[in-house]
Amino acid sequence: MMTELLYLKDHYLREFDARVTNAETNLVILDRTAFYPTGGGQPNDTGVIRWDGGESKVVDVSKKTGIVLHKVDGAAPPQGAMIHGTLDWDRRYAFMRYHSALHVLCGLVYHMYGGLVTGGQIYPDRARMDFDLQDLSTDRVQEIEKECNRAIQASRPIAVRFLPREEAMKHPDLIRTKINLLPPEIEEVRVVEIEGLDVQADGGTHVANTKEIEGIKVVKTANKGRINRRMEIVLASMNPQ
Ligand SMILES: [Zn+2]
Repeated sequence: MMTELLYLKDHYLREFDARVTNAETNLVILDRTAFYPTGGGQPNDTGVIRWDGGESKVVDVSKKTGIVLHKVDGAAPPQGAMIHGTLDWDRRYAFMRYHSALHVLCGLVYHMYGGLVTGGQIYPDRARMDFDLQDLSTDRVQEIEKECNRAIQASRPIAVRFLPREEAMKHPDLIRTKINLLPPEIEEVRVVEIEGLDVQADGGTHVANTKEIEGIKVVKTANKGRINRRMEIVLASMNPQ
């Protein structure tokens, strides 16, 4: 049985109840979960699960063929038990801010210079993104950073929608982000849209409005091949007072 992925519909869900469908040694499978499993450049959540008579920390979360595996650092709850899960919210919320920040960056680099994304990764304290771009001068980096912060402060809503595959395949912005590479068995495409800026097929968790990102700083750039340019960002408050 596939795990119901509560985080796909509610990014702000930080506590939930679920039933243990399978458990052995230190791996727990639930019928539903709000714990995000590592994937799409976003690291897994951590937290704790509690049940009648015990509790364990969730230290790693992964997904295999639709089933989410929660690795715990103590005893596993018995099969059939009801658990209450709580996420480490500071960690997850930072990932949400970083993930949305990367989409702002990706939308702007495309609109400004036509650069397409070739890869990206989020860490607890930074994030990086690679672009198919020949020129990434200091001037351009400054311009990109400035425009990102302008977009962030414009309080643009970030919405999640589920589109039928046929409809998604016709969307020009989704085509540019290589939606055609999605496995053919996927009938419904989850789409994350930053109003007026960026639309992507995406399985990650995001903030609801760009203002929650607060601001970004480009802290590093690197050449990763002839036309591959990397930018590393950190979250930054733009109004220090
Ligand atoms: Zn994404």
